[in-house]
Amino acid sequence: MQIDKTKPVLVTGGNGYIASWIVKYLLADGHDVHATVRDPANSAKTGHLLKAAEGSRGKLTLFKADLLKDGAFDAAMQGCELVIHTASPFVIKGLKDAQKELVDPAVMGTKNVLDAANRVQSVKRVVLTASVVSVYGDAQDMSDQKLKAFTEAHWNTTSTVTHQPYNYSKVAAEKVGWEIVKKQSRWDFITINPGLVFGPSLTTASDSTSLSTIKELANGHLATGVPNMEIAIVDVRDAARAHILAGFTLTASGRHLAVSQSVTMWQMVQTLKARFGNGYRWPMMVVPKPVVWLMAPVAGYSRKFVSRNAGWPLKFDNSYIQKDLGLTFRPVAETLGDHFQQMLDDGVLKPR
Ligand code: NAP
Repeated sequence: MQIDKTKPVLVTGGNGYIASWIVKYLLADGHDVHATVRDPANSAKTGHLLKAAEGSRGKLTLFKADLLKDGAFDAAMQGCELVIHTASPFVIKGLKDAQKELVDPAVMGTKNVLDAANRVQSVKRVVLTASVVSVYGDAQDMSDQKLKAFTEAHWNTTSTVTHQPYNYSKVAAEKVGWEIVKKQSRWDFITINPGLVFGPSLTTASDSTSLSTIKELANGHLATGVPNMEIAIVDVRDAARAHILAGFTLTASGRHLAVSQSVTMWQMVQTLKARFGNGYRWPMMVVPKPVVWLMAPVAGYSRKFVSRNAGWPLKFDNSYIQKDLGLTFRPVAETLGDHFQQMLDDGVLKPR
């Protein structure tokens, strides 16, 4: 699929943590960008995008669009051959109604954007920000399925709206995408399935769980300790580049796991401590699983979540994305270190 590079690229949720890097790279590469946001007048949420556009070779235009409003993306999509659909809430704590807060925007929003692609005749390719959580639900799934690592062939079959609702929202949205694309032949569909994304943020106004996770490792929130849990990490700059490569690589196809490496939370702490020293309220230890299980409800997690995720290995085969898109990954230490440094520079984190 050949995409005309002189046509604008639509990025939905353009002010988000990952999308901001996609927009910045596109503009720097000389592409015109149509970015949708919920509130273009909110300078706290869009100022960094306007700054990225200054002095870049591309032109940025902001459009207002809500995932739940039918037809909201049509205007922004006009004239675009490439659509990069990133908008979807990434929140896992403090949910009151997961269906309404997570699943509806993810699933109905994806349908809304793809229905617009069916109407807007210029569209040739849609790249969806999916997730590793559409290939698995809980780390235990890997052992249950007797796998050494998850690949693009696997699907999350264990998440529901009550157990791992964010994971459920992502697999349900991705499935909707693969269903809709089958019914036509004008545009094709590619997914980028990132692991947990870390790395410097261009915005301090995002609600992404990526940003709160790094903060909680150093601000005393987890001072007692961390569970023995493995996390599949990818750098935000690599995840952003993956979307752009998927958009413009003629031969690209299918799903793409974007994971640099799996590390434990304790390894993350040790990596950060080695670079930034003892002046932070780091977790003291790895908390034994029975204690984590007992205390889970107090920390806002279910005991089932702890049972099925703490102490289980979690691995991903990242060979396809390297072959299909030519993507290379930054080392995890650089990703975490650059993220932490950005938080210090922006005053989001302070030494104790
Ligand atoms: P983020 O910074 O919170 O970005 C989410 C974006 O979605 C924001 O632009 C947000 O707009 C928008 N959004 C949420 N609800 C919306 C609605 N009802 N209508 C319109 N826009 C809405 O989070 P992120 O980490 O960059 O996540 C971006 C995408 O990557 C999501 O699809 C997420 O599932 C996926 N992903 C993230 C990770 C990760 O580790 N961060 C890993 C894998 C996949 P507002 O600013 O107005 O809220």
